[in-house]
Amino acid sequence: MTQELIEIVDVLRPGKSLVVAIDGPSGSGKSSVSKEVARRLKLAYLDTGAMYRALTWFCLDRGTDLADRAAVEAASKSLPLEISTSPLEEYVRVGGTDVTLAVREPSISAAVSAVATTLGARTELIRRQRELIEQHHRRMVVEGRDITTVVAPHAEVRLLLTASEEARLRRRGMQLGGSQSAEQLAAQVTGRDARDSTVVNFSQAADGVVTLDSSELDFAQTVDAALSIVTGIIDHKAINRD
Ligand code: C5P
Repeated sequence: MTQELIEIVDVLRPGKSLVVAIDGPSGSGKSSVSKEVARRLKLAYLDTGAMYRALTWFCLDRGTDLADRAAVEAASKSLPLEISTSPLEEYVRVGGTDVTLAVREPSISAAVSAVATTLGARTELIRRQRELIEQHHRRMVVEGRDITTVVAPHAEVRLLLTASEEARLRRRGMQLGGSQSAEQLAAQVTGRDARDSTVVNFSQAADGVVTLDSSELDFAQTVDAALSIVTGIIDHKAINRD
């Protein structure tokens, strides 16, 4: 990245709203890339997947039947959630219990789609996500599956981060530290994306959403490409007085 671009991205649109919505499937590199983009742009950061994971943890902890949609919806409304909105620290707490690591366990990954496909629970989490965006004066990188289309369709920048299935499985495998076999991992990642896509379309970019394919890019290159897209869109909007 050029020195000039580094300076430009340090603080973009100071005092004005800048929501960067980033969607993508599991293993696209979404979380780490989104967090770094937020850090570089000095924006807040929200991992909406962690909210669905926290709700899943809460339901399982209370013995809520995940097939009981009314019970899952009720749990979403009473969920005592605290989640970091800073790219510099990561925490998820439910009722004061630190579940930052627990929500990444394979048992939660396997169960989360049941919660995420409960529409009443989605409505409640989407409401909370929009509230958090407002609380941060609409200066935030928000990542998930439905951010560009449902949560923040009017975000200044909307990105779909994709990667080939092979690249996604490789990255997920590295993240889990090899605790699962390759077959288990492949079944989990593709199964989860297939279940998730029954309620949200995150495999194709909606109108006005820019696709960034990271299959052939390393982490730094993906971050640079994302920042270039953000600055390009903001420059274009400034020129057009948008
Ligand atoms: O991003 P991550 O893999 O942590 O997301 C966990 C799960 O949360 C997804 O598999 C999906 O079921 C759900 N999710 C969602 N909508 C979002 C973010 C995540 O349904 N905006």
